[in-house]
This record gives sequence, C-alpha cells and structure tokens, in this order.
Amino acid sequence: MNLSLGSEVKYLRGVGPQRAEALARRVILTVEDLLYYLPFRYEDRIRFTPLADLRPGNVYTLQAEVADGSLLRFRGRRDAIYHLLLRDATGALYVKFFHGAYLDGRFRPGQQIVLHGKAEIDRLRPARLEMVNPEFELLGAAGGDSLEVGRIVPIYEAIGPLTTRVLRRLLHAALEALGENIPDPLPAGLLERHGLPARGPALRAAHFPPPTENLDQLNAFQTPAQRRLIFEEFFFFQLGLALRRRQQQAEPGIAFRVRDERIREALKRILPFKPTAAQKRVLAEIAADLGRPTPMNRLLQGEVGSGKTIVALEAAVIAIENGYQAALMAPTEILAVQHYLAARRVLGRGGYRVELLVSGMKPAARRQALERVASGEAQLVAGTHALIEEPVAFHKLGLAIIDEQHRFGVLQRKRLREKGAAPDALVMTATPIPRTLALTLYGDLDLSVIDQMPPGRGPLVTVRRSDEDLARVWEFVRGELGRGRQAYVVYPVVEESKQELKAAIAQYERLSRAVFPECRLGLLHGRLANDEKDRVMEAFRAGELQMLVSTTVIEVGVDVPNATVMVIEHAERFGLAQLHQLRGRIGRGREKSYCILIAPRDLGGEGRERIETLVRTTNGAEIADADLRLRGPGEFFGTAQHGAPALRVASLLRDRELLELARREAFALAEEPGRADELERLLASLDPHWQRRYELAKVG
Ligand code: ADP
Ligand code: MG
Repeated sequence: MNLSLGSEVKYLRGVGPQRAEALARRVILTVEDLLYYLPFRYEDRIRFTPLADLRPGNVYTLQAEVADGSLLRFRGRRDAIYHLLLRDATGALYVKFFHGAYLDGRFRPGQQIVLHGKAEIDRLRPARLEMVNPEFELLGAAGGDSLEVGRIVPIYEAIGPLTTRVLRRLLHAALEALGENIPDPLPAGLLERHGLPARGPALRAAHFPPPTENLDQLNAFQTPAQRRLIFEEFFFFQLGLALRRRQQQAEPGIAFRVRDERIREALKRILPFKPTAAQKRVLAEIAADLGRPTPMNRLLQGEVGSGKTIVALEAAVIAIENGYQAALMAPTEILAVQHYLAARRVLGRGGYRVELLVSGMKPAARRQALERVASGEAQLVAGTHALIEEPVAFHKLGLAIIDEQHRFGVLQRKRLREKGAAPDALVMTATPIPRTLALTLYGDLDLSVIDQMPPGRGPLVTVRRSDEDLARVWEFVRGELGRGRQAYVVYPVVEESKQELKAAIAQYERLSRAVFPECRLGLLHGRLANDEKDRVMEAFRAGELQMLVSTTVIEVGVDVPNATVMVIEHAERFGLAQLHQLRGRIGRGREKSYCILIAPRDLGGEGRERIETLVRTTNGAEIADADLRLRGPGEFFGTAQHGAPALRVASLLRDRELLELARREAFALAEEPGRADELERLLASLDPHWQRRYELAKVG
C-alpha cells in the first residue's frame, strides 16, 4: 500500500492494535506524528571502547557480552540489587542496577549488550571499575543488526511497550516506506537563505544521522537537520500569530481622541502622584494605540508594585472622556474590590462613576449594578469573571483591561472583548515572562514594560529561617508591629489535615491567643463569605488590624504600603512565581521590609533552590528564568488553556535563537502584500496536530 504522512500508524508493519493504542495515548496517530517523535539522545556505536581502556569518571558507550547476572536481595529490605558481569576480549566490567528486581531473568550468558553510562570505582573494591544503573540495550541475534551497531544510533524514550529498539525499527521502516513522499511546506527560498535542509532529508538525518555527523552537535540538537525541524515548528506557530495580528490590524476599531486639552486636564486632575518616567512612556504607547482606528492589543508588563494600576486608570479616563465605558477585570474578588476602591478614589476626583461586579453580590444590589452598566451610567466597571457572564451587557464598552493576565485563559480574554464592538484591550501582568515565552504566548500583542519602581521605596530583605527559629521570628514581628508597621503571615492551607501542614485557621487562633495576645489580628482565606473578606481586608488596609493571617488569597495585587513584614510558613510548599507574588505585597512603602521564609533546615532539591533564588534576588526576570528552568514551560503557566503551545520538537529553553529567527521570518512573510490567503491555506493544510495548536493560538 502507498504510505503517506497522513496514514494512520496502524498501517505500518509491526504496529498491531496494542502498539497503536500505546502510541495513540501519546497523540501519535499518523505516520507524520511518529516521524516527529525524535530521539532524545544519540550514541556513537561505530567504534566501542574496549573494557580494558575504561577510566573512572568518563561516560562511555560500549558493547560487551553477558557473562553472568544475579539478583541480590537483602534480608529485611525490599530493595534488591541486580548484578551483571560483562566481558569482552580485553577485560570485564561489573554493573549494578539498584531497585533491580525487574531485571531478574532478563539476561542470559552470551547475549550481546550495549551500555551507556559512567565508569566509576567500586567503593568496596577500589581495584574494580563498575557502572551503576547505566542505560542498556540487548542486541538481537548475531550481536546486533545494522540499525543497532556500526552507526550513530538514535535513542528514544520508550512509549509503553515500545522500547527504544522497537521505535527505531518502526521509524526506519516508516522512512523507507515513504521514500521521497515527504513534501515540504516551508518555502524553498527560506530554507536556502538559512542553509536548512528540506523536510524529508531532515527527518531522515534526525533519526538516522550519517556516520560523519558530529555527535556533540547531535546531542545538543544543533545539526542542520535538527535545526530545520525546530525552525519549522516555531515558524508555523509564529506564522499563525503573524496572520492573526495582521487580521486584527485590518479590523476597524475605535479611534479615540487622545490629544485634546480636555483629556489632558482630565488626566492631570486624577493623578494622585507624579508618574515615573516609565509610567509616562507606557501611557504614551497606550494613548497612541487608543488614537489609532484599529483595536489595541497591548500587554503591559511590570513588576509587582511598579504602578500598573494608575496607567490603566489613565487609559480608562481617555475612553470615558470619549463617551465610552471601560472594564477592569481581575482574577480574584479581593483584587477586584481593591481595584474598585482605588478606581473610586482616583476617578472620583474627576467625577467619574465607578461600579463593582462580583459574583457574591446580593440580588438587589447586583440588579442595580447591571442596570447602571447597561445604561452607561457606570463608566468604569471593576469586577471578576462575573464581568464576562451572560447577563452583563455594556452600554458602550470601549476599553477592556485585564489584570494579572496569566490567571485568565485566552477564552476569557476573548469573552470580555466581545462585550463591546471591537474595544481596545490592555492586558496587564506582573509575571515577568521570559522573552521566549512572551513571544509564543503573546506573540500577537504589542508589549509595554514598566521597568522602574516608583520613588521612595524602602529596601526589602528576604531571609530563610526554620521552625526552630520561630520564637525569635515572632519577637521580631512584635517589634515591627510596635513601630506601627503591619504584617502578613501566610500558610499553605486553610484547615489542618493529615499532611501536618500548619493551617491558617488554627494558626490564627494560636497566634491570637498565645503569641500576640496584645495585638489585633485578622484572618483571611478563600472560604470566608465575601463581605467578611472585604471587611477584613478593609480593616487591614485602614490599619485597624495589625496582622493578617492568610492563605494565598492575598497573592495578587493587594496593596497596603504600611505592611512591611511577611512571614511565610512552609515556604517550601509554594511555587517560585507564587512566592514572588506573595513577597510583592511588601516593600511598597518607605520603610524597610522583611520577608521571612520558614522552611525545614534540611530541605533539599527544588524546594531549596526556590527558596535560595528568592533570598538571592528580587529581580522578577531572574526569578522567571529560574522558574522556567525548574518547572519547564509546560508547567510555567499551568495548563494548555493558557495558550502555551505544546511543542513536540523545539524547546523554549534550548532554542531561543531559532525562535527569534522563525519569528522574524514568519512576520516578514505575513507582511508581504497579498499573501495572507495563500498563507492561511498553507496553515490549514498542515496536519491536525498543527491545526489544534494553531486554533489555540487563534482564540486569544
Ligand atoms: P502593580 O503594578 O503591582 O499593580 P500598583 O499599581 O498597585 O502596582 O502600585 C503600587 C503602589 O505604588 C500603589 O500604592 C500606588 O499608589 C503606588 N504608586 C504607583 N505609581 C506611583 C508613583 N509614580 N509615585 C508614587 N507612588 C506610586
Ligand atoms: Mg496590580
């Protein structure tokens, strides 16, 4: 039968129902999907090192014969170590597999095996070299065929029952069967310009590199074949973004008046302080967008506390002065209420009418609010997701502002915009996004950055302490409260559970009774009724409460400049971005601020790295990079609904430079006049995998 890229994998020889099912679970449905399942590593199996030449500390790929193998169990221990003895013509090697019970019965004397691992000195017998838990592959009869030895061999991550050896065979068979039948969707001129091979040869060389290929380059995914495949993946994603952006720019939007005297006066009237140079610059960028007759799509990025809110309110004033309404959507009720109060304070000076819409409102109040929104009486509407719900109808929405963008999915962003007729959109985030992620996630947005803090901020120090130090920590907090400052104490959970985590409710009671009986404490967590939350937050803001015991509900946006101390218990339980956000609640006033992270003394692993990163730096970009490194892009923004593309070949960490290149090329191509339709067709002709990701990009 005639195999093509679109053929289902079950038509490949060697793929029965069971294997097809295992592949399907990894979304490998077609031959094309399979071809884009690349090796994660390559081994040079052209010349092997003789066992006699091994030196401790080096990594080797070697071939040998199984001489003996046995499982050693230890009395009283469930674990077992599998011992393997290998020989070649020059010597012997001992191999240990910890937790090796699964290997029992796997090896027979005389079998040929290929190992990849590090030679080390056996600590009990210093004369011997050994390998511990190496990767290995048993070769077929006669010491391996031409796919397994005598070449640079691709190593795949196993997929269920499909071992690296099985996958290698399948891929080889698929490439053989396809022959020249691998069309290339990339423009030929583009490939030529960057010295990239065509798709067929690239796939072939990425799976079965020629013997002349440089192994280090291969393992760094830097060969022309690999670069071509990485480029391709970025290119089509960026092309999708570029076309969408073109489309948006062609849409008619609102051309607000921005430069007349009345608006200048209105802006001056509301400003409670002198804006920083950075705030002035981004407002100018936003105003320029507002003045253009196409819808604005701008991302406003700025560290926590850099002063994004006032910029958003200024933009709102421009919209309102033009006779439109503005909406300001926040991810939590606490934050929505805070925005509402700030907007009332600031916009009140200009006589503008501000409304609040959250889900927890009493029916009568809610009905009245909805009416004022629908009639246009409400000029700025602050709220939560409640804003995008069905019954909310705006009179004339001209500007949609979304705060803490990363908390919302792309669909929610779209739904808010649909509450108006092509309104301008401003999305704000305090999450410092590594540039590679910004380009993929928000590649169709214009970017404004507030890279400067308002003046007169006191310094912020972060320290790490353990449970044993708590008595001294509380004494320190008492001292700060005595000087008139306020403090947050944050816990990972609301109620005690089996996990033995300290919980906000129990700790609030304990701290009120036993530690700070003379102070005024408040408790805040997500399960409180809404008006109770508001009451507590307002009391803290007004200084009536000195200490707020809380869960992460205060994570985003809460702004109380007099709060200068934050104690986070079980700090190892929080993510890096989350800790950074939490810490952003302090350091907002003139006084020196203190963030005290409580974590076990013997903490290791990622938890320790997270805390050390936080102690070392307050630089959001640095923290974002560390976070991306520790968690990987998939986790960085939570689920795919936030729009992070699921890349199958490329890596945002590794392939930064190719991403930039692909973006430049894709945007240049999309700008060429008269090509949009053809390019849309090109994207539509890509396989379903691409379709899904491109669609995801489109909804934003
Ligand atoms: P974020 O960017 O985290 O949303 P906010 O807009 O909440 O930051 O601002 C943080 C604090 O800084 C607020 O109390 C705000 O009033 C204050 N602020 C913002 N800009 C200035 C400025 N130019 N001068 C003085 N204070 C400012
Ligand atoms: Mg904010």
